[in-house]
Amino acid sequence: MFVEVNTAGAERLRARHPWVYRGQIKRGPSTPGLYPVRFQGRTIALGIYNPNQTLALRAYAWREGEPWATLVENLKRAVARREEDRRLRPEGGRRLAHAEGDFLPGLIVDEYAGHLVVQIGAAALEARREELVRTLAELTGARGVLLKNDSRGRLQEGLPRYVETALGEVPELIWIREGEVWLPVFPHSGQKTGAFLDQRENRLYAGALAERLRPERALDVFSYHGAFALHLARWAKEVIAVDSSAEALAKARLAAQKNGLWLETIEANAFDFLKRAARGGPGFDLVVLDPPSFARKRSDFERAYRAYKEVNLRAMRLVRPGGFLLTASCSHHLDEASFYAMLKEAAADVGIAFRVVAKRGQASDHPVLLNVPETGYLKFAALERVVE
Ligand code: SAH
Repeated sequence: MFVEVNTAGAERLRARHPWVYRGQIKRGPSTPGLYPVRFQGRTIALGIYNPNQTLALRAYAWREGEPWATLVENLKRAVARREEDRRLRPEGGRRLAHAEGDFLPGLIVDEYAGHLVVQIGAAALEARREELVRTLAELTGARGVLLKNDSRGRLQEGLPRYVETALGEVPELIWIREGEVWLPVFPHSGQKTGAFLDQRENRLYAGALAERLRPERALDVFSYHGAFALHLARWAKEVIAVDSSAEALAKARLAAQKNGLWLETIEANAFDFLKRAARGGPGFDLVVLDPPSFARKRSDFERAYRAYKEVNLRAMRLVRPGGFLLTASCSHHLDEASFYAMLKEAAADVGIAFRVVAKRGQASDHPVLLNVPETGYLKFAALERVVE
């Protein structure tokens, strides 16, 4: 069995983009699976195929080979890369498999202090989940594997949503070490796999900046479990964490206690909070803004752009001269150029000069492929309010 692509599909693959849409498939099996991909009678790739999806084929190798063994080979390489990365420590959190970024479409694997949390987003991988879990355990020596298969995308793939321990034990709460801070991870009940590892290096950056700045007052908006806030709280006199989720803030307070640090938590809609806070003038030396994705699909772009601009504009007003705004967007529909255009517009509207001190992205264990811009989604800017 194999999948045959047309000229347009073959051209995408030749350019090393893994995605081939249904209209670019000449013929293929009627069931999802891992198959060789052919063009003009030659095998040009191996791919994960689902005939029921608009995005029908996602390639993971550009050579002949046994499909499953080749996928496992990619998994081994992905794990080996993390073992070589000295910044990633076993007692911390790290991403072992970053889907297309690791030539493993439909697969996310995060490790939290020896426990694996897996998200499967492809029917062909779901069908082999037992083998997959066993292979992962062998490769990593993990103490437990949780299948956190509750994402909405699974429904399109024709898969049920569930959370299930597939091997050993995975605790409700795992503490991971990030720099000098303990962070709580709730793999069963938390968002995504339990934490936002893509911001790890940016949180360490924020911590280092706070060490230099020794802020009087710092603010972490969209704080979730207060991961940024905790890094800031080691150096700031006062840190406020804002989130709309009372549950997330309760966990932020739990984490503060574990670290022997103090956080003030405010349950509020960030838009309202920022509006109210702006009335008091620029009261913060350091503001972190890490909103959720406002654009889940391309058609959301305009609305999302305005929402990002609004929160940034309001946050800019809160920063004291000489202070910093650390601002992020995790929506890949808002590309890097649009992100910086949005920030420029916001700063122009409020009439405040900012210096771009750093343009950053996602942590090194979330690899970005040059040929696949979709693998890079996180933008993070460090903006210093110029003293005029
Ligand atoms: N900075 C965090 C991750 C933030 S995730 C970290 O480094 O771990 C985004 C957070 O925004 C979630 O906790 C969600 O509850 C919160 N959120 C979403 N919409 C919000 C809104 N309108 N106002 C305040 N918080 C919101």
